[in-house]
Amino acid sequence: MKKSLICVSCPLGCPIEVEIENGEVISVSGNTCKRGDQYARTEITNPVRSLTTSVKVEGGVHPVVPVKSAGPVPKDKMFDCMKVINEATIKAPVKIGDIVIENICGLGVDIVATNCDCGK
Ligand code: SF4
Repeated sequence: MKKSLICVSCPLGCPIEVEIENGEVISVSGNTCKRGDQYARTEITNPVRSLTTSVKVEGGVHPVVPVKSAGPVPKDKMFDCMKVINEATIKAPVKIGDIVIENICGLGVDIVATNCDCGK
């Protein structure tokens, strides 16, 4: 079986073709560099995504603060992570880079603030 992907590791967006047999990657072609090979293999065996959203803040100038995952999160855990984030409320003050949720869903990835609660 062959699967076509677009590498999103850099703006070039190389079209990649992956040959898969019994769930295993047999070959990767179309990539311009090693990062593309790694991206394709990860995308087939354990797809991950960065998570970007916002979390509720109590006592801040704004009611929410933007957050992101400090590392990639397995695609099939995104819904679980969003549930935890949506149910969370943190207290102001919040600074850029603050860990607002540590080790979300036991994945070893923290959720960090990408802005302060005052929106500056
Ligand atoms: S294969 Fe390499 S050059 Fe092509 S999009 Fe991916 S990272 Fe960029």
